[in-house]
Amino acid sequence: MTTTASRTQRRVRDGAYALAVVPLLRRLVAHHAVAPGAAWRTRCDTCTNLLWPAAYGPSGRCRTCGARIGAPPYWLEAVASAAIGLLVVTGAPGWELAAYTWWTAGMLVLGFVEAAALRLPQGLTADTVVLLAPLGGPASLWWSAAISATVLAGFYALIRIVSRGDLGLGDVALAVPIGVGAGWYNWRQAIAVVVVGHTLAATGIVLRRITGRKSSPSPSGTHLIAASLAVVVGHRIT
Ligand SMILES: [Zn+2]
Repeated sequence: MTTTASRTQRRVRDGAYALAVVPLLRRLVAHHAVAPGAAWRTRCDTCTNLLWPAAYGPSGRCRTCGARIGAPPYWLEAVASAAIGLLVVTGAPGWELAAYTWWTAGMLVLGFVEAAALRLPQGLTADTVVLLAPLGGPASLWWSAAISATVLAGFYALIRIVSRGDLGLGDVALAVPIGVGAGWYNWRQAIAVVVVGHTLAATGIVLRRITGRKSSPSPSGTHLIAASLAVVVGHRIT
């Protein structure tokens, strides 16, 4: 009984620590969600006041002028709470919880930046993967992750070549953290992400047509990231 209670307390504490980073994630989204070629954002677009710390509450609004900046109100907080909370509840061991919390945070920032500005900054993509290495883990799982990432990135690089650049370099790079995170358990999870992600994107296009909403470029990276989080969390639950 005592052991179960202390384990629950430890999980709640771990979850609280992990979720304390959410304002930082909101900052990263606001900083990077700018048009291609524009300088990274450090000030409010409307009143030009410095963003930090005035615009990183869950409402996503500048406290000086009320302009909305970065991720939509409360969405980042809700998705981060659900994804990280489920990782904690499903009892991922210490190093794995740390690795997947980092990976989830990086993927969330990329997903919200892509949704807001249709871009996937490659520096963020690299950080999401490179800083996982010191966290260790069994060599067999690293092999599975590395092979999944390589095959997936190769697949999207081929599409980029065949489409003559219609697929962005950021989309090709995104295949690496998807392959590492989803392919960690086995390569089938990475395939599942591709199938679910593109199904989500196609469903979005069909729904926009049915509801008569204006057609706009689809943030395919956001769909693939949503699928990655769902597959990883779903794997841990089952
Ligand atoms: Zn402002």
